[in-house]
Amino acid sequence: RAKREDRDNYQFYTEALTRDATQRIWLENGLRQALAREEFRLVYQPQLDLASGCLIGLEALIRWSHPERGEISPGEFIPIAEDIGLIHRLGDWVLRAACRQGVKWLERGLEVGRIAVNVAGPQLKRGNLAAKVTRILAETGLPAKHLELEVTEGFIMAQAEAAIAQLDAIRDLGVALSIDDFGTGYSSLSYLKRLPIHKLKIDQSFVRDIPGDPDDMAISTAIIAMGKSLKLTVIAEGVETPEQARFLQEQGCQEVQGYLYGRPVPPEELEERLASATRG
Ligand code: C2E
Ligand code: MG
Ligand code: MG
Ligand code: MG
Repeated sequence: RAKREDRDNYQFYTEALTRDATQRIWLENGLRQALAREEFRLVYQPQLDLASGCLIGLEALIRWSHPERGEISPGEFIPIAEDIGLIHRLGDWVLRAACRQGVKWLERGLEVGRIAVNVAGPQLKRGNLAAKVTRILAETGLPAKHLELEVTEGFIMAQAEAAIAQLDAIRDLGVALSIDDFGTGYSSLSYLKRLPIHKLKIDQSFVRDIPGDPDDMAISTAIIAMGKSLKLTVIAEGVETPEQARFLQEQGCQEVQGYLYGRPVPPEELEERLASATRG
């Protein structure tokens, strides 16, 4: 009997493993073809000044629409793109597409503020990001003051000296830098002081359970206070309710992003909003 159970378990696990491996290979192959097949697009989510409600920028977020499987989330495919080295070409595509869109809006006289583009660890690790950003800004004509890069803590802290040099070069171009998902990695506070960054993004996991979870409230409060003393702007992501917004404002958080203010949408759907932001 034990034997039979073992065999059944074994079969169960090998089947599950085979299924996962097959799925993974399928995704990898799909990703390798997706750029050429133009299956990616960008959506944009508003970022607002909390006190005034004014639009201060937009975060560009990638979407992959697979002809058979439909929408596949970046949370699923970005890590795979990183693993298979595709993130470099994909990252270039994102940066170029966001800059081009920014120029389109600016040419039509629309106030876009800063367009924030996510940058994956391996893109920074390669060491040529500043050169790449320079080239893409020149090529697309987007003024550097309209671009922001969102980086995560992981690579910065693992290779702090190399990261600082590179981020310095990007900052010197006039491009803003923010630390995404702040609080989920393990930033050293002494490095944080030396980094040429402008903004901390409180991770949405700390915002989600406000006002129910005292720990999350304490963490958000601490990040806002730290940002203030380091003279960094703090933005909270994943803000969904007026209660969360009120709490964040009371703590002195300057900026917000979340479904309460607008979901990520295709560029066409933002035009009206950008136009009214421009009119003021
Ligand atoms: P992220 O950069 O932290 O982006 C925030 C995520 O939260 C986005 O998910 C956004 O759609 C979602 N979000 C925004 N407001 C709310 C809210 O009020 N409630 C909830 N529950 N969620 C909200 P998305 O678009 O699925 O992206 C997931 C992650 O994938 C991003 O997290 C980022 O790490 C990565 N990603 C997305 N686009 C790119 C890209 O172009 N390049 C790279 N390297 N990574 C990207
Ligand atoms: Mg982000
Ligand atoms: Mg985030
Ligand atoms: Mg919690």
